[in-house]
Amino acid sequence: MVKDATVANYLGGEWVASSGSETLPVSNPATGELLARVPLSGSEDVGAAVEAAQRAFPSWRATPAIERARVLFQLKTLLEGNFEALASSLAREHGKNLEECRGEIRRGIENVEHACGIPTLMMGSTLEDIAPGIDCETVLQPLGVFAGITPYNFPVMIPMWFWPYAVAAGNTFVLKPSEQDPLTHQLVIDLTVQAGLPKGVLNVVHGARDAATALIEHPDVKGISFVGSSAVARQIYAGAAARGKRVQALGGAKNYLVVLPDADYDHATEAILSSLFGSAGQRCLAGSVVVGVDDAYPEMKERLLEGAASISMGYALEGDPFMGPVISARHRERILGYIEEGIREGAKLLLDGRDATVKAYPKGHWIGPTFFDNVGPDLVIGREEIFGPVGGLAQVGSLDEALELIHRISYGNMTSVFTTSGCAAREVRYHAGISMLGINIGVAAPMAFFPFGGAKGSFYGDLKAQGRDAIDFYTDKRVVISRW
Ligand code: NAD
Repeated sequence: MVKDATVANYLGGEWVASSGSETLPVSNPATGELLARVPLSGSEDVGAAVEAAQRAFPSWRATPAIERARVLFQLKTLLEGNFEALASSLAREHGKNLEECRGEIRRGIENVEHACGIPTLMMGSTLEDIAPGIDCETVLQPLGVFAGITPYNFPVMIPMWFWPYAVAAGNTFVLKPSEQDPLTHQLVIDLTVQAGLPKGVLNVVHGARDAATALIEHPDVKGISFVGSSAVARQIYAGAAARGKRVQALGGAKNYLVVLPDADYDHATEAILSSLFGSAGQRCLAGSVVVGVDDAYPEMKERLLEGAASISMGYALEGDPFMGPVISARHRERILGYIEEGIREGAKLLLDGRDATVKAYPKGHWIGPTFFDNVGPDLVIGREEIFGPVGGLAQVGSLDEALELIHRISYGNMTSVFTTSGCAAREVRYHAGISMLGINIGVAAPMAFFPFGGAKGSFYGDLKAQGRDAIDFYTDKRVVISRW
């Protein structure tokens, strides 16, 4: 791709210009440099992508599972060979530090590795003599064209929660990546071509809301995998379900982290700082409010403030900063709005990152680590997703009170507890009602071979991303009863 050029859609194995004339800039959020422009494709481009995917389906479905897996094995080798190039491209367009970029690419690759097991993952089951002389079996079959609509914060990994499983199972796929940082995943598409993925099996349409809506409305799209904010997740879930499609829609988060007085405070401090401020807080698994039970509150307050104040900020490709910028000027304004709201609501501002800058990069979208005291579900900053480097502290007298705060939050993506008590950890697992739980872990990260997705307002659907759920989502179980 030529620098500053408009990125092309990838339809039926060809790089094709979008039919739409509108474009948006894709910029380096640290330096402000224009990297490319992304087209705002519409229903015409989506129609062409779905048609290409539909055309490719019969022969891809008929390709033996082991041969489909071989393409993914080849892709895994190519991804490893291009690992550093992918990580630095990601750092350039997203802004998070190189270690975090490498982590994202690694997690993406793990999904390809898991999907390589498709010959066994896709096996059905048989039971003889469900009645005398009658046998019953299930056969897992692909459904056709699936679509993915994905967010900006993990622009390589999140698409790879989906399409490797969908295509491994014999479906074809249309991806609508985030319009904010779509470039590194284009490199992955190049690698799928080199790996020998047949034309039309994986297609990419760039754009924003209109392209996403066209995918949801297209009659030949059998199912939608979505990740993004909860308001959009809910809308996509309703829209796709109303059209009879399968849908898994992962939404936003507000993650409360509980520290008990018996915790290892040094470990908890390190894990929580990384949870709150890693990726500048732009993770659905980012810690948001730290709940200190009894003595844990003053201990954690002192340590977290000291740690947060010493966090380094800068451009990922220079030095080794802990934190990069946030994705855009618009998103920075949104986060600043929340900080002002917190002050208005009466939360005590302990650390103020609003004026933070990085001298060499005056055009970067910088916000320094910010900390409020006295935060809880009564406050907007204690119940809404900020998606930036803004943490809160709350003090409670018992684990039950901490759980009560968690129950009052409408999101249910992740919670963590820091403790040396197995009994307390079990209480949290049993009563929190949250899908991802960290025990002495600040970020309960998605693992390819386990399901990933939230509860309450963080998830709309039944089958989650990755793990066994991915195979179930992208296949239908056909049941055959036979008597000979
Ligand atoms: P977003 O909701 O703005 O956009 C997500 C995708 O939806 C993009 O591809 C976008 O183009 C599209 N989109 C936006 N508005 C739309 C509309 N009205 N109709 C149809 N499509 C639309 O999210 P974002 O800002 O890119 O990402 C951040 C959000 O994603 C946060 O809320 C974060 O918590 C969430 N997220 C959740 C998870 C998870 O696993 N639950 C993982 C990563 C990010």
